[in-house]
Amino acid sequence: MNDCLFCRIIRGEIPSKKIYEDEHTFAFEDINPQAPTHALIIPKEHIGGLKEATAEQAEIVGRCHLTAANIARQRGIEEGYRTVLNVGPGAGQSVFHLHVHLLGGRSLHWPPG
Ligand code: AMP
Ligand code: ZN
Repeated sequence: MNDCLFCRIIRGEIPSKKIYEDEHTFAFEDINPQAPTHALIIPKEHIGGLKEATAEQAEIVGRCHLTAANIARQRGIEEGYRTVLNVGPGAGQSVFHLHVHLLGGRSLHWPPG
């Protein structure tokens, strides 16, 4: 058992607002939402971040994105949404369990900050 925050959320040791779960992925509401929809989609397998992902983990990284797309479809935000992976502290990564942010429900500007 590791004490990674998101592994603990998957195990139900820390409460979360679960959106979706399947064999490979888990999705929940971000505790500090930056948009009307701000979901986090994570692999059930612990991966520290995109930098740490291996070729063998390509499928699970893709599955996380497809789970994000499914949530966006269900939420009716397909007019425009964004999937983001913050990679490394310099990009704002604060939890070192790979997670895809799904942001939508408002206009999103480019480039991001
Ligand atoms: P990042 O900064 O890209 O590593 O994203 C981590 C995200 O996790 C942030 O958007 C936080 O608001 C979110 N977060 C941290 N702790 C929790 C928690 N207990 N439940 C839900 N979201 C969380
Ligand atoms: Zn973890």
